[in-house]
Amino acid sequence: ENDLTRLEHPIDLLIERDGDREALWWGGRWITRKELDRVARENQGKLSQAGFGRGHRLVTLMPNCPAFLALALAVWRLEGTLVPLNHRSGSEVLLPTLDLVDPFTVVYGEADVKTGDLVASYPSSVVDQDGVLQEVKGAQGSEVTDPDFAVIFATSGTTGLPKAVPLTHGNLMDNVDRCWEFLGFSQEDRILWVLPNFHSFGLTLGGLMGLVRGARQIVVPLFMPPAATLEAIHSGGATVLLLVPAMVEFMKRAIQHGAPKPETVRMVVTGGDRLNLELDSAAVEFLGVPILEGYGTTECSPVVAVNRCYDSRKLGTIGEILPGYSWEVRDDSGRAVGPGEDGILWVKGPSVFGGYYKAPEISSEKLVDRWYDTGDVVRYDEEGYITVLDRVSDLIIVGGFNVYPQEVERVLNRHPAVAQAAVVATDHPVQGQIGRAFVVLKEGTSATSREMISFCKGKLAHYKIPRVFDFVDSLPMSPSGKILRRELRGRD
Ligand code: ATP
Repeated sequence: ENDLTRLEHPIDLLIERDGDREALWWGGRWITRKELDRVARENQGKLSQAGFGRGHRLVTLMPNCPAFLALALAVWRLEGTLVPLNHRSGSEVLLPTLDLVDPFTVVYGEADVKTGDLVASYPSSVVDQDGVLQEVKGAQGSEVTDPDFAVIFATSGTTGLPKAVPLTHGNLMDNVDRCWEFLGFSQEDRILWVLPNFHSFGLTLGGLMGLVRGARQIVVPLFMPPAATLEAIHSGGATVLLLVPAMVEFMKRAIQHGAPKPETVRMVVTGGDRLNLELDSAAVEFLGVPILEGYGTTECSPVVAVNRCYDSRKLGTIGEILPGYSWEVRDDSGRAVGPGEDGILWVKGPSVFGGYYKAPEISSEKLVDRWYDTGDVVRYDEEGYITVLDRVSDLIIVGGFNVYPQEVERVLNRHPAVAQAAVVATDHPVQGQIGRAFVVLKEGTSATSREMISFCKGKLAHYKIPRVFDFVDSLPMSPSGKILRRELRGRD
């Protein structure tokens, strides 16, 4: 049932049935499905002529835009695989990923000279302003891989080098349908697509869900500057915002500086990172509604759990597991534990991937009998609401006791002088490990390690309090706005 390549893609069905309806808000006007289809057909013809076909991979290095979607459609109609990568990632991440996926061609925008230089040693093609491919240069004799793969994503690389995650059309469409039903979206919705196309959250929910299920999408190429995103929300009349938490903070600041405050939004969903509860209040004030927090991973296409509506949400949790998944929370010995106990979340279901690309060893570590080890330590309550405690790889073990950095950071973030804090493990001769905090202070404030430690006393168990404090100007962040703890762990 995971094989949509031999059927018509659901987007094709909608183009036929409802092609003249407004679909994408782009550059101040609505584009219909038929208009998108026209560009897709032209690109399909050019790709096919150049020898691109079943089981080939096409890399895109593009911001969000209708042209990106037109390429995706062309690739899928030819039974190829789309590999959307970050056009801003430097050569160190990009080139090994390109070597791994061995693309037929790499596509970028004609004005993007920088990217052109970066990928000069690969066969590449440019799209013009209208999204039409110019001359296609392809690697003849390019390897053929599984034509069921709709996309291959590179994971964020928060915990190590990015891994390549292939997802089938069945994986993606399953997640689209489940989220659409569970969160109660409608064809009247106008969904903001600002999350990057090279992340599953951005592509599956932002880029595809509306097209597949018949809602409109407000297309924003890049989140920065946030004022432009707010402008698009305003002019396109967005009703649903899909964001990562960091974006809410940036929007708040932009609104404080005069960007338009959204007035049409009925739902805000965040995922990808822990939601800071202060942001929830900020959202009510600045976006008009509170936040529904969800959780996902690239490997699950991506949504695994979410708070489905405001009436039933539990703040501080990631909500309930989506229907269709089997799930267990397992302790160190692999035994499934009950409510209130800590363990690692394992999931199984139709939107879970089938293994990393060309990496059988780590695939068999993370996927056992099709059960996926998320690597996230969680706890659930009697009603099945899940709290993410931390990533198992970020745990700090102090004298045999587990310390979850996120718990410590929540306390540090409450200190009036703290703008941002991250806690990592550092070696200690007696305790094995202790917590080391990296703290960014708010402008015009000061603090000492001693003050920080006394602030934590009474709020955290003694062994959880960091013993080393580094006051820094900023924290290293991934392109998706996550703190890169592994980089902090490596500092002297
Ligand atoms: P890599 O696998 O390369 O280290 P990554 O894990 O950051 O990168 P993603 O698939 O983008 O790659 O992120 C999934 C992870 O993000 C989850 O496993 C979880 O740790 C974290 N995450 C997602 N949503 C939430 C949330 N609401 N609260 C806390 N953590 C979250």
